[in-house]
Amino acid sequence: MNPLQLPIASVDVSGNEERYVVDALRSSWISSAGAYIDRFEGEFARLVGGERVIAVTNGTVALHLALLAMSLEPGEEIIVPSFAYIAVANACRYVEAEPVFVDVDPKTWCLDPEQIERSITAKTRGIIAVHNYGHPANMGALAALARSRNLWLVEDSAEALGARYRGQPVGCLGAIGTFSFFANKIITSGEGGAIVLPSDGLEARIRQLRDHGKDPVRRYHFPVTGYNYRITNLTCAVLCAQLERLEAILARRKEIFDAYRGRLSEVPGISFQPVEAWAEQAPWMFNVVVDRAEYGRSAQDLASRLAEDGIETRPLFEPIHLQPPFAESARRRGGRFPMTEALSQSGLTLPTFNQLSIASIDRVAERVQHHRA
Ligand SMILES: *Cc1c(COP(=O)(O)O)cnc(C)c1O
Repeated sequence: MNPLQLPIASVDVSGNEERYVVDALRSSWISSAGAYIDRFEGEFARLVGGERVIAVTNGTVALHLALLAMSLEPGEEIIVPSFAYIAVANACRYVEAEPVFVDVDPKTWCLDPEQIERSITAKTRGIIAVHNYGHPANMGALAALARSRNLWLVEDSAEALGARYRGQPVGCLGAIGTFSFFANKIITSGEGGAIVLPSDGLEARIRQLRDHGKDPVRRYHFPVTGYNYRITNLTCAVLCAQLERLEAILARRKEIFDAYRGRLSEVPGISFQPVEAWAEQAPWMFNVVVDRAEYGRSAQDLASRLAEDGIETRPLFEPIHLQPPFAESARRRGGRFPMTEALSQSGLTLPTFNQLSIASIDRVAERVQHHRA
């Protein structure tokens, strides 16, 4: 890496990853059974407080399996935030359900519980809460609403490993929690995902769907249409090594978040994702919001100037209700998304990865300060 080029993210496999992968290779358990899979599922369950964990191919299929477990009928509706990663809405379509978009809360950047009620119809079955950029959604309010309207609540915790809602780890606060271990997530195996269950009730069904729909006993008998969403022992070898360092990874990234906040809090026109008093945010990606009037430039303008400085940034999520596969149905349904649209226009992700030095953060902060017009 050119020391003057600062990427937005970078992978850190500096622990036992290589050793465990070699061990898995030499054991010849490289496919979808093996000690690292069992170890990872057990350790992850203890970590997030789940009764059962099922490791899967990636975070998107984790969502797909979660929704399959909810046995939806075609055309039924699921409440999702418009401000989120696209996989959340895509997974609804995989089960022929319709994602119904709701705006996010300025206090959390997650689903706004107060705006959900008016989007609930006779067809609504559930809510997917997404802990955007590691900040937990307001799970207390969402769970109360879900209970009163007889809806299920699924937590997409892909960005939020280590986050806590009122002291409790996210991922185990609803009916099902999902995680992703894609390369830029808090822990990674390149591709990978997990499903967390607060009880063992849905476990057998999800394991069956993950494994071609196969009967747990009778050979070559497949009672339901299933999928191959299995994870490999090689992948779980990497994940076991990553988990060993989770505490250190979270501490390092928190240091990065604190350093950015400390250096940028005095820059007029630059603000941050707020953190609720009840929340412990997982330090996933550090974001700033650029107030065009006060800063003197738009977020896009700042991004291209930082790119010239060799500093990679990324815009925040584009609203899902404006994406081509979803725009028409969202338009027909109406709904307003001022917060989603504002964040998408004015937000910017700064480089956030374990090895990011304080000197690099100093440089990013200095350039952000410098470009103010
Ligand atoms: C990354 C992410 C996903 C998708 O995970 P993959 O492992 O890339 O399939 C889903 N939801 C959210 C909120 C994510 O951030």
